[in-house]
Amino acid sequence: MIVATDVHKRYGKLEVLRGIDLTVQRGEVTCLIGPSGSGKSTFLRCVNRLERIEGGRLAVDGELIGYKTKHGRLHELREHEIAAQRAQIGMVFQHFHLFAHMTALENVIEAPLRVLKLDRATAVARATDLLAQVGLEDKLDSFPSQLSGGQQQRVAIARALAMKPKLMLFDEPTSALDPETVGEVLEVMRGLAAEGMTMLVVTHEMGFARGVADTVAFMDEGRVIEAGTPEQVLEQPAHARTREFLARML
Ligand code: ADP
Ligand code: MG
Repeated sequence: MIVATDVHKRYGKLEVLRGIDLTVQRGEVTCLIGPSGSGKSTFLRCVNRLERIEGGRLAVDGELIGYKTKHGRLHELREHEIAAQRAQIGMVFQHFHLFAHMTALENVIEAPLRVLKLDRATAVARATDLLAQVGLEDKLDSFPSQLSGGQQQRVAIARALAMKPKLMLFDEPTSALDPETVGEVLEVMRGLAAEGMTMLVVTHEMGFARGVADTVAFMDEGRVIEAGTPEQVLEQPAHARTREFLARML
């Protein structure tokens, strides 16, 4: 679903991604772990083209992100073509980013109405189902300020799913939550994984990575240092830097 080859990204003089190589298989959960500042968020933002890469190749579902080939040459996509690529990729952020002036239901129907041009009745029916799927059937008319962090994050997940994405990106989805609401969000993510959703998850929840991930990738200083099964990377890491990071996590 994702093939990243030697992906480079810099901010001014700061080289943030220094040649990312990573493959995410269709229907699998990949957890991306690594120290703060290693470029995990930047990489996710490149995958859904919130950032533009400066070197290497990045493809989602066989399509280059941000480019198309024509007569054997690379052409940069136009804004509406980039928006079309982005619409197929769901993203969930640490700080939810819900629309504060809209109810849970309105948050979930907004993009399907505006982008997918669904009629209102269809959008409401689907949003109602999705909010039930994340356990919020009784919160349709609540505003974000009336919901706990865990509930807000579940609305954010339902909102992303409403676009029927082929890939879901999660950037530390539980890092801003009170400890008692972390579990309910991880439970929803576990359910999505069980249904076969392809997921790339930046997380510090090692229990989730161990129990749910098919692949764990460890990033440091703008590169994927090692990737493998949770057993390989978390129990038998090949690299000293991975061992040091894991030791600090305990
Ligand atoms: P992580 O998510 O692994 O903590 P980030 O991808 O957020 O890492 O950041 C990697 C590096 O890039 C950090 O040094 C950060 O300060 C820098 N960085 C991130 N976004 C920007 C930006 N928009 N402008 C300048 N520097 C940035
Ligand atoms: Mg980050």
